Amino acid sequence: MDNCVFCKIVRGEIPSKKIYEDADVFAFHDIHPAAPIHFMLIPKLHIGSLDEVEDKHRSLLGEMMVLIPRLAREQGCTDGFRTIINTGRVGGQEVHHLHIHIVGGRERLPAMIPHSRQKE
Ligand code: AMP
Repeated sequence: MDNCVFCKIVRGEIPSKKIYEDADVFAFHDIHPAAPIHFMLIPKLHIGSLDEVEDKHRSLLGEMMVLIPRLAREQGCTDGFRTIINTGRVGGQEVHHLHIHIVGGRERLPAMIPHSRQKE
């Protein structure tokens, strides 16, 4: 997609702090990190959002899921991490190219979904 920011990152037209690339996917640090570790994994193929995923994307998405823990460990997530996929208007998606945020650090992240009793 000509005007997609993440497609431009994949093509090298916009600089990024790349952490991983293979034939199908690209991973890079978020420009506005929300935590000490915050990077994104995207498919090179332009898929607008999780809402646009089809059966033909099954193995691509599987590859991404399998890659996440490896990249998270390499980036320093030694005791867990959070993955976030914002989808569409309601999900607060700003960049319309499917991306998985991987967020972590040393400290426990604030809960996104309230629990009746927060464990320490
Ligand atoms: P989302 O709300 O899930 O669509 O989030 C989009 C994310 O992309 C935000 O966290 C932005 O900080 C990040 N972002 C936007 N432009 C860039 C860029 N050029 N390089 C790295 N991250 C970016």
